[in-house]
Amino acid sequence: MLKVAVQKEGRLSEKSIGLLAECDIKIIQGKRKLIGASEDYPLEVLFLRDDDIPQYVADGVADIGIVGENEVLEKDKNVKLVKRLGFAKCRLSLAVPQDIDYKGLDWFNNKRIATSYPHILQKFLSEKGITSKLEEISGSVEIAPSIGLADSIFDIVSSGSTLVSNRLREVEVVAQSEAVIIASPTLTKEKQALLDGLLFRIKTVQQSIGNKYILLNAPNDKLAEIIKLLPGMKSPTVLPLHLKGWSSIHTVVHEKEFWSIVGKLKEHGAEGILVIPIEKMII
Ligand code: ATP
Ligand code: MG
Repeated sequence: MLKVAVQKEGRLSEKSIGLLAECDIKIIQGKRKLIGASEDYPLEVLFLRDDDIPQYVADGVADIGIVGENEVLEKDKNVKLVKRLGFAKCRLSLAVPQDIDYKGLDWFNNKRIATSYPHILQKFLSEKGITSKLEEISGSVEIAPSIGLADSIFDIVSSGSTLVSNRLREVEVVAQSEAVIIASPTLTKEKQALLDGLLFRIKTVQQSIGNKYILLNAPNDKLAEIIKLLPGMKSPTVLPLHLKGWSSIHTVVHEKEFWSIVGKLKEHGAEGILVIPIEKMII
């Protein structure tokens, strides 16, 4: 069994279980709510706090984990980053009160910075030759300057609205983060094979994102022009319609391209255009 650590409750939990579900791996949460199993894949899910996931994976209690890159960088454990997942995107930034006339990193010399990420921050400050006093707190970092606990903060930012509502301004981006899969560096052959199988499923799901299956009817004398607009995966399927002089074209198109070519398809006489979602793509 591959033991997978996922966040128990929070921003990553639903998406992590959702990702497994998209891979046709449904998780049944047993009576012991901390462990879930699946009938679809030899896999067991451990529900944990995200802070603990890198440690559990490094210790081999879990074989792999789905966690934010920010926690991986902060905990700095012996784990392998095996896949970036593209959700829970955010950055780790330094922010100062809006009324500060900020001119550069030197401002942070001898200042107090509140953060839940002291390791990442200290590494960054040392590299830049800045000496600050770090105030480590585990949550609600953004209120630290207004209650007089710190002069500035270092925290996760995504839209920036939390900063604005606390009258703070983002001044330096230190690191980017997204959800990732980490693995223990000492997986057995069998577990590695299970992980490879899971990564293959994730790839087929990710490949299909944004791609649509498109069907349309085209007059035969315009087939060449229409096919040029729709190269598809290898080449489109062309089937004769019962009505003489017409064909049906089936192919795959990315949604970004779809809107730029739909007008041209119609100019060439295409009719009855259907766009259908694709669940998985194996290229
Ligand atoms: P836990 O109780 O498990 O310790 P937490 O409160 O530390 O949870 P959450 O707020 O649920 O963590 O966030 C989990 C992860 O989601 C973060 O570590 C980060 O990678 C990502 N994340 C946090 N805030 C945002 C955001 N605003 N936008 C995108 N991703 C975010
Ligand atoms: Mg946490």
